Amino acid sequence: MSQAARPIRVYHSPRYEADIGEHVMPIRKFGMVRRAIEAEGLPIEIIAPTPVTDTDLLRVHTPEYVRAIATGEPRALAQSQKFPWSPELAEAVRWTNGGCIAALFAALEDGVAGNLASGFHHSHADHGQGYCTFNGLVVALDRAQAEGRLARALILDMDLHYGNGTASLLATRPSFHQLSIYGNWYKQNLAYRDVAAERTPDTKNAWSVPVANGAGREEYLGILAETLGPAIDRARPDVLLYQAGADPYKEDPYSPLDLDHAALRARDTYVFETAKRLGTPVMWVLAGGYTKDTSKVVEVHLNTARAAVDVFR
Ligand SMILES: [Zn+2]
Repeated sequence: MSQAARPIRVYHSPRYEADIGEHVMPIRKFGMVRRAIEAEGLPIEIIAPTPVTDTDLLRVHTPEYVRAIATGEPRALAQSQKFPWSPELAEAVRWTNGGCIAALFAALEDGVAGNLASGFHHSHADHGQGYCTFNGLVVALDRAQAEGRLARALILDMDLHYGNGTASLLATRPSFHQLSIYGNWYKQNLAYRDVAAERTPDTKNAWSVPVANGAGREEYLGILAETLGPAIDRARPDVLLYQAGADPYKEDPYSPLDLDHAALRARDTYVFETAKRLGTPVMWVLAGGYTKDTSKVVEVHLNTARAAVDVFR
């Protein structure tokens, strides 16, 4: 793995955004994070990916669902992720998933890379959920595995919400693993806060660790430190996919946790340092963030890019 001083490759295109009107999901944030990275002059090269193909999508998603997103019909299925469907949206989700694939390949070559979009961890094989249309994490892993570029992988999901869609897709992918550290349960397209009320039993390759209401920096980082090592030991990954959610932030309307910007940046630094120490390539994605002041969401995501630069450059 090369750790030369070339800029870190990060993927983004203005095509990631579609007009979804007034919406709790600030889809504009993708471009805002890009501009923040550029304004700061970080050693990051921002590259446009190519949109994902049907071949890539159909390894993960059913033909009926892929067709619904392409055509808008049946409308209930085309809007199962809770976005208003439009031809522009159908295109945008292909670009964001293409970015996941491009970033994964760049990470395998360079040791680290990112995509300025989510991993879309609530997306299932035959429907979307929670603003997640196609599961870019698994789409990228399946593509890389099909090309023989990797055999095994670990997804570290640190979005506030449990990565239920990814877990469902991993049931048939025993060489891919997930560790989801979450402070908000997720079910039936609704966010719950009480992580103790509903908990999916761990499977052989999908593990989850709830974080208690009110948990602060010490407890959160302690859970990460205690669980990431054993997860890596069991997964023996060729790559780490890091879903760096902004929604654990303390002002996020869905978050019951007491985590400030510094705590989340410390989380990011720990993940990148662990990957670097083990020589495991790491690809990060942005994931959720709904704080009313979008600049605070952007700050969390910018801090993840800063942490990657601090550790790798
Ligand atoms: Zn979330």
